[in-house]
Amino acid sequence: MSSLKDKSVVITGAAMGLGLAAAKVCAEKGANLTLVDYNESALTSAKAEIEKATPGVKILTITADVSDEAAVKAYVEAALKAYSRIDGFYNNAGIEGRQAPLVSYDQQVFEKVVDINLYGVYYGMRHIIPIMQQQQYGRIVNVASVGGIRGVMNQTPYVATKHAVTGLTKQAALEYGRDGILTNAIAPGAILTPMVAEAFKQVNPEDPKAAETVYAQANPTKRLGLPEEVGRLVAFLLSDECSYVNGQVIAIDGGQSNSY
Ligand code: NAD
Repeated sequence: MSSLKDKSVVITGAAMGLGLAAAKVCAEKGANLTLVDYNESALTSAKAEIEKATPGVKILTITADVSDEAAVKAYVEAALKAYSRIDGFYNNAGIEGRQAPLVSYDQQVFEKVVDINLYGVYYGMRHIIPIMQQQQYGRIVNVASVGGIRGVMNQTPYVATKHAVTGLTKQAALEYGRDGILTNAIAPGAILTPMVAEAFKQVNPEDPKAAETVYAQANPTKRLGLPEEVGRLVAFLLSDECSYVNGQVIAIDGGQSNSY
């Protein structure tokens, strides 16, 4: 129950979806939270929701765009000021972009996906790792995707950036394991969040639910994943119970990425 007791945990993209779900689990396990998102109103609602579920939890909210390095530096400094350390970092904020084939992919959308999914993740690591080095302790969980280990039709920049996240993860694991910092990535399949709801709308604008059903049927478990199922894995990887897992990309997809 208390495996994150008094740990200072920073979560990006915390206002909804996988970030919010992990924040709820971390709060239940006793963490002091710094929640970062660029959607200020959703972030305020998220804070209220977590406080209702876990009275007494400490939550600092910061409105910031993770693709802006100055804003990243500021949220890291604010978290450090509030809690004097940063034990865990759930580097989660990301976007899917629009769905289109590689050659006709809109350049501006492509760049936005790279700015958020690659640079946003990198900036977070660049500013938090030195603090964890000073502490000689840290747990980082980056968010890749099954699109970080395989191709996905019509999602070129998403797949390219999620592969880059797995690369950043392995790199940090090698370079900072000696400092007591364990860096891993999760690779979710389709988990029912607002991002995935939007993807099903793009696949079948007339009947998104039908697209969801088709997708679920292709999964060995015949269902999509739930955000709290991912949250529990993240909480483990952020805790002291995770003591010798480093540089791994852990699929959480009902086993779907094993199919050929
Ligand atoms: P979501 O769209 O439901 O939530 C993402 C949150 O991140 C939102 O609150 C949004 O405001 C915030 N955000 C986006 N860009 C930001 C930025 N530049 N700065 C600050 N905040 C920002 O998405 P989700 O499904 O919860 O996805 C979270 C992460 O998980 C993403 O990296 C996504 O690629 C990854 N992922 C999700 C799934 C899935 O099935 N849901 C699968 C694989 C990977």
